[in-house]
Amino acid sequence: SPIPDYLARLMREIGSDNPGATASYIPELKNADPNRLAIAVSTIDGYVYTAGDADIEFSIQSISKAFVYALVLEEHGIDYVRERIGVEPSGEAFNELSLEEGTGRPLNPMINAGAIAAYTLVGEPQISESERFEKVRKGLSAFAGRELAFDESVFLSEIKTAYRNIAIANMLRNYNTISQNPEDVIVSYTRQCAISVTTRDLALMSATLANGGVQPVTGEQVVSRQVVRQVMSVMLTCGMYDEAGEWLATIGFPSKSGVAGGIIGALPGQVGIATWSPRLDSHGNSERGVRMCKRLSDDMGLHIMDAP
Ligand code: GLN
Repeated sequence: SPIPDYLARLMREIGSDNPGATASYIPELKNADPNRLAIAVSTIDGYVYTAGDADIEFSIQSISKAFVYALVLEEHGIDYVRERIGVEPSGEAFNELSLEEGTGRPLNPMINAGAIAAYTLVGEPQISESERFEKVRKGLSAFAGRELAFDESVFLSEIKTAYRNIAIANMLRNYNTISQNPEDVIVSYTRQCAISVTTRDLALMSATLANGGVQPVTGEQVVSRQVVRQVMSVMLTCGMYDEAGEWLATIGFPSKSGVAGGIIGALPGQVGIATWSPRLDSHGNSERGVRMCKRLSDDMGLHIMDAP
């Protein structure tokens, strides 16, 4: 049928050129097979078209930030969260501190500082970090429509040298942006990043956003439509870090990337898109993933600024 054929052809055409490098600061990711390549497109009624390694698991990494932000918006309301985490693009790398002058409020939830703060808002402040992580894992599973596990080896590999994220958490604690023990928070935040997903899962998770918060297969309203609007807006302006402007101008749909090579894109009312290729460009976004999304956007007319 035409869609799978199209996706397979797109993969062949983009796939032969594989520049960039796997993330070097996490040994498990550095050693990932750089030839992995997958694409999945999910309609909002839950039909998933795939090509390549779409059922192989890898760690969700920063793509989790969009969904955890959604979970805390749903739990506490948009105003409560906005007082603690901003919605302004930082224009800086994902692991920059990027706090608002004076207040200590992270600029947005798609960079590490804002994502760490968002993680601490899941559940009551006093619950244990392992309970909080469990809530995160359950929440992400609801978006995927299946129980997601986490990859201990990716976690152990990252936590050993997570000094920079621990430093960010300490700065957040210094400004009273978070109230928990910084090192405990980073242990669980790092577990959150090590949750395993397939490209198919990611397409369904973004299709849940595209579908106004209703998981297309289970029918569960995971988050409200207002929450989805907030999350997709921030994905659009901040989801690709310091490549966000270029992405918006050339590809033009809300997206989020992770350092294991995943990218999601969500077209409101239409489709959820996911790509996977482990080698990254200089901004930490998947090199072939960005090019596959560009081709999809051009071929299928997915730029949200295009007049119909
Ligand atoms: N776990 C990674 C980190 O916090 C996630 C970064 C990413 O995917 N861009 O450094």
